[in-house]
Amino acid sequence: MTLPTYGAIPRRLVVVVILCLLASPVHALTSVYEVQSGDSLWEIASRFGTSVSTIKQLNKLKSSSIHPGQRLLVGSSIRKIEANNGPYYYASPKSETQKSRGYAESSSRSAREDYNRANRLIQAHLAELRDRFGKAKKRESPLKGWRIMLDPGHGGRDPGAIVSNETGDKEEVHVVEDEYVYDITMRVMERLMLYGAEVQMTVLSPNHLKRDSFLAKETFVNEKNEVYNDEAYNRKADPMVRPGSHNIKRRVMVANRFFKKGRKDKSLFVSLHADNSPQRPRGPLVIYQKKGSRMDKPSRTFAKIMQRALDHRTVPSLIGSRNMAVLRDNRASAEILVEIRNVSSKADAWALRFHEKRQEDADRIVRGVLDYATSR
Ligand SMILES: [Zn+2]
Repeated sequence: MTLPTYGAIPRRLVVVVILCLLASPVHALTSVYEVQSGDSLWEIASRFGTSVSTIKQLNKLKSSSIHPGQRLLVGSSIRKIEANNGPYYYASPKSETQKSRGYAESSSRSAREDYNRANRLIQAHLAELRDRFGKAKKRESPLKGWRIMLDPGHGGRDPGAIVSNETGDKEEVHVVEDEYVYDITMRVMERLMLYGAEVQMTVLSPNHLKRDSFLAKETFVNEKNEVYNDEAYNRKADPMVRPGSHNIKRRVMVANRFFKKGRKDKSLFVSLHADNSPQRPRGPLVIYQKKGSRMDKPSRTFAKIMQRALDHRTVPSLIGSRNMAVLRDNRASAEILVEIRNVSSKADAWALRFHEKRQEDADRIVRGVLDYATSR
């Protein structure tokens, strides 16, 4: 798409107009929530930003008693997203750009409150996607029956790599790994769902879904508000429940719980990162688990197929094996970690900053998943 020349039009207006054109129609939607043990109606209502009486009305409940496994309509509407700079924001960061390597915005809320907001946001978004895909013409669902856990690298206390980059006007900007891989993960999730897979993410942002990037100097800000996709874990009033290197195994626990349902041979785990390795060339690197001489064959096959899907004509992708906490003890039938770009290369860090490039990266990852799933 060619962007209109800005001329005298205020650039904010241009951005708003483009966002409106790209945004899918926003409808009121109702998502379905499956009651977990220990839930109360009041808690569910606050989590989804609705009221006990609304839930009772929607489900024609005569009393407030509920039981685990019960499926409840919750009045969570995507219309309620407090968007102030586009339909895909819940709230915007204070700064419109990552000013320096060290800049960070910590959350004013508890992990529990951020989890509730994040869950509300993602549930409303998923309901909207299901609604949209459900209405689409009968299509091929090559990933029907597959359960795929996507793991956006870092987040919370740990932003991952932060590198400096520049705009065409030589203004310095910074690229924060966790914010950009989160965006790519959202894009991968959308496509995999479109192909019929059940998809979840290990980490959630209370503020963002997919974000488009129109202005070169507006880079994603290092927000430290992400939480694990684990309600009970976030109930602890402890800032250490935010993702960090100290609790990396939580990613595996979240994934393994997801894999309890469904067929073991149709479960996949993909961890998404952007590498910062000056000693290797730019481009993707796919890693599968290997501990000593113990190597997981399906994961190696998945990694090889993914590597092929990620290969560009001019930028080859690499493959490697490592013993990694996020892959170890993972119950998926195959699990890999993808370093989608190497941000020690200026060109790769640049590419991450633009949504067209992030969409291409996401599409390649989806290709890899499709090729693996349909090869068996
Ligand atoms: Zn990383």
